[in-house]
Amino acid sequence: MVYLDNAATTLPKPRAVVDVMRRAVTEFAANPGRGGHELSRRSGDALYCARQTAAEFFGAQIPENVIFTPGCTYSINYVLKGLLRPGDHVVISDLEHNAVVRPLHKLCQYGVSVTRAHVCEDDPELTLRCFSQAIRRTTRLVFCTHASNVTGVRLPIEEIAAMCASRGIPMGVDGAQSAGVLPLALDGQAVDYICVPGHKGLYGAAGTGALIMRDSSPFGTVIEGGTGSASSLRDQPEDYPDRLESGTVNLPGILAMKAGIEFVTGKGRENIARHEYALAQMAYDGLQKIKGVTLYTRRPTPDGHVPLIPFNVGDLASEDAGRMLSERGIAVRAGYHCAYDAHVCIGTAGRGAVRVCPSAFSHPSDIDALLRAVRQISIN
Ligand code: PLP
Repeated sequence: MVYLDNAATTLPKPRAVVDVMRRAVTEFAANPGRGGHELSRRSGDALYCARQTAAEFFGAQIPENVIFTPGCTYSINYVLKGLLRPGDHVVISDLEHNAVVRPLHKLCQYGVSVTRAHVCEDDPELTLRCFSQAIRRTTRLVFCTHASNVTGVRLPIEEIAAMCASRGIPMGVDGAQSAGVLPLALDGQAVDYICVPGHKGLYGAAGTGALIMRDSSPFGTVIEGGTGSASSLRDQPEDYPDRLESGTVNLPGILAMKAGIEFVTGKGRENIARHEYALAQMAYDGLQKIKGVTLYTRRPTPDGHVPLIPFNVGDLASEDAGRMLSERGIAVRAGYHCAYDAHVCIGTAGRGAVRVCPSAFSHPSDIDALLRAVRQISIN
């Protein structure tokens, strides 16, 4: 199977990721920080090392400002539900994933209000103005995706973050599609919260993610429970990461995420991105030449996009096109990609789109195979 569904999760995973998960399960993944025995201590050390690696990669001041989570969705929920209170207003973009839209929909039932700022693919300055104009006296948070998982369009997060900083408003970023591909770090950008999955551009395992915080903000908790610390207290500890990491952490997954980050830094994030953009551009150029294919964005470039492409074939429903491609050995994602609002923006609310996204492991021959298969289904 030619796998081009890397925007959902990257596949395959690097060898080191597979090896460390196997070793963690077979050799030493005891419960970290829960007992004085040797294996628990080793697990605790390994967990701390993973925290250090993630902190360095995302420019956190201290490892304790990295919270490991079961995925980007959880990280986003922690930020939105941890910070927003009745009466608060939040600004998001009109390209957000349901990981942002649904928690906010719920919070709106408790008195939070939301404004969606328009993202303009061709005009980042206009996007910035839309964010700036959406801000009100009660705006408590600006939160947006770094790049749309439907269109690949990149938001000017540095500029939005600087604007927020000048007005004293915290800013959070959904880095689901950008972590490991675009520059995303607290030490280079005025962003306050970065939410990432471990299993996409960081090449770790499913069910992993992180929230990286600029400082120890007074987060309300969404989940309370055992932390292996301050056990005699009924209240959740105030200190991080314990405040937001209740229960036994997914150590094999966290170590896989560490190995994935090391894979990205070892290869060089820029080198991986260059490779992916070249393949995405090759796919775009090829798709553009196939009669009946509709493309919805400009040719992906590092300045404007992440390397993914939405398209449709003739009058086919996107799910049908996805199924026909699967029958021809090509794995892509079709439908709404959990981001219906973005489909409304590009005019595909009635049918969704097919999405292709290469990874560090993709080859030009994969794109050739995709184009061959799209040519076939466009004729039938
Ligand atoms: N945000 C965006 C833009 C995404 O593309 C995704 C996953 O597809 C998510 C959030 C959710 O990530 P996770 O599945 O790791 O929770």
